[in-house]
This record gives sequence, C-alpha cells and structure tokens, in this order.
Amino acid sequence: MADQGLRAPFIKGLEGDSFCILPGRADRGLIVVCDHAGNALPAEYGTLGLPEAQLARHIAYDIGVAPIVRALAAHLNAPAIMTRYSRLLIDPNRGRDDPTLIMRLSDGAVIPGNRKLDAAERDKRLRLYYEPYHRAIDSVIDACLATGITPVLLSIHSFTESWKSVSRPWHVGVLWDRDARLARPLLESFYAEGGLIVGDNEPYTGQLEGDCLWQHGTQRGLANAIVEVRQDLIRDAAGQAAWSARLCRIVERILRDPHVAQQTRAPGARPPDAAGADTHSRQGEFQMTKLDKALVTELEAAAFRRLVEHLRTRSDVQNIDLMNLAGFCRNCLSNWYQEAATAKGLQLTKEGAREVIYGMPYKEWQAKFQTEASPEAKAAFAETKPHQH
Ligand SMILES: [Zn+2]
Repeated sequence: MADQGLRAPFIKGLEGDSFCILPGRADRGLIVVCDHAGNALPAEYGTLGLPEAQLARHIAYDIGVAPIVRALAAHLNAPAIMTRYSRLLIDPNRGRDDPTLIMRLSDGAVIPGNRKLDAAERDKRLRLYYEPYHRAIDSVIDACLATGITPVLLSIHSFTESWKSVSRPWHVGVLWDRDARLARPLLESFYAEGGLIVGDNEPYTGQLEGDCLWQHGTQRGLANAIVEVRQDLIRDAAGQAAWSARLCRIVERILRDPHVAQQTRAPGARPPDAAGADTHSRQGEFQMTKLDKALVTELEAAAFRRLVEHLRTRSDVQNIDLMNLAGFCRNCLSNWYQEAATAKGLQLTKEGAREVIYGMPYKEWQAKFQTEASPEAKAAFAETKPHQH
C-alpha cells in the first residue's frame, strides 16, 4: 500500500492468491475484514480428503458473508480485505500458537488432510495462506492512518444455526473484547431494529487473544468489533441482500455519529479498559448493558421459582396429566435441573434434584399427592410414551 502515497486517499482493489482487497476510500474511517469468506483450497490440497459436501458446510467457511462484505465495501466506499481459502487450510482468525489454527476435527468431521501435519507443513501454510492476509490488513490500516483519519475495524462472520444439535436463538451477535467503542453502537442499533434476538458476545465471546481483531484492532488501538449473522438468515440471495442493506444502513449511521469519531484515538494508545481509569461515560453506560446479562439470568431464575412454587401449590395436578398434555412433568424439570448442575461440574443426585423441585423427598410427595391415574390417562400415556423417566 505504500505506493498509494500519503496523499492518495484511495485503496486500490487487489487480487492476491490467498486474499483479495476490495477498493475503497482510505479516509473513510472504516475497514471491513472477513476472515472466513471463502471455501476454496489451493489445487495441491484437493479437498483435504473431505467429501465435496463438507466443503459447502459451515466448517469450511462462513456461509453467506462474502456478498455482504462486497456490498458493505461498495455501498460505503470502504476498503475490505477478504480471504479466499477455507479456514480448514489454516484459520486466519486464530493466533499462530492457537491449537485450533489448523483443525484436525470440526463439528464431527475429521479433516484427513490435516491429520498428519509436521512443522514444515504448518510453516508453509502460515507463510502462504495466513501471513499474506494479515500483511494485507496491516498495509490497508497503514494507508488509512496515513490520511490522518483513524479507521474502525469491522469484521463480518456468520455462525451456524445449530451447533452439536443445539439450535441457537440469536439472529445476530456482536463480539467484542475490551473496547466497546464500536460494539456498543452496533449492539444498540441491532436492539433498536426490533424483532431481533441480539447476542452480546454470543454465540461466543470476542475475547480471544491472538484472533484477527486482537492482532489488528486491540494491538493497534483501533476500535473494533465482530458482527456475526446466523447462517440460515443469509444462505440465499434474498437474505444476503436484506442483511447487506441493514448493515450498510447501521454502519453508515455509526460512522456519521460524531461520538464514535471523537472516540477514535491515536494509534498505539492504550485501548479503553472497561474497569480502567480512562473509562468514558459512554463506556460506563455500556457496562450497564453488560450487567443486564446477569439481570436477565435473575429474571429467568425468578420465573423458574414461580413455576416451581406453582407446581407445589397445585399438587392436585398429576405428573401423568402434565405429561399427556404438555410432554413434561415435575420429574422432567428435576432432570433438567440435574443436567444443568452436571454441566457446571456439580454433583447432584436424581433424588436431590427432585427434592429441589418437589420441596420434599419424591417418595413423600407421591405418598401425599399422587393419585391413581385414570385408565384414560394411562392409555394416553402408553400411546404417546412422551418421556422415559
Ligand atoms: Zn467466522
């Protein structure tokens, strides 16, 4: 980018081997990056031993994001850097020492081409397919900074709607580390859209040391955030167009916001720490939003306690009737409680969990409140077999 010269405010498009640069104004105040844009593989790697169908899955790349990044760059006239090769070759959104830099296994699929990986092969992939992308990002940042306008870094990703057969409720997530300057207005904009389930550092955290934004944003003091869109929403052209339009509108407004511009600091300055001395008042407000996560858990717990209390009061309602009507009963709730405890590494017996729900040992509750089920209820239960206790 050095040949762009200090006065040329434009970054030219460039087709590299492992990456491409989309053109845009160097003084736009925005750089878009896309670490998982492509699912191609260099010819010598074939399909890494995978069936073609696996390369079309989320494990190989972020479905739906490339057209969105192209739209953002074109509409906002901002430079963008995108990868071409699959993250299965090497993941540019990992630190060099990260054990998941080159995955041997992803979401149940073994990657045969990554099984035997010696240091020479790892170095080769770093040199050919990792470093050029990061150098390209650095060069674009340098060219932007040379205009005197500090850019923000926006990374676009997408996440699979279901991971290990658990479906994910969020439509969009904003991932961020310690710098809320870009994340906060993004979150507020998504909240303001209405009808969106917005993840604040969900479905995963943006606090991954060594990842792309850590390397180029955190380390260089640039405001940065990841936007993650759920893949089923952007799998087809209509969805991609809708989300492109939404993101263009939101990002354009954020770039116009003088607060965001004011908050950009000289490169190399320490990023604002949420708990640090330079906590900005807007940062403080944002911490309230973060606290809301704990509040949400409290509200959920309060609703759960009401449910348990209700079930205790309505001891006339039989478990078998609950099962027949709603497919769950007090014992299911006890099992869910026990499973949640197990997931947190706590030892809780089945009987212990039931006592939490029934408010007394299960046997005692049965003796006190359980009545002989009617033949109809028994027949209905036998027919649907809704649950095995
Ligand atoms: Zn991704």
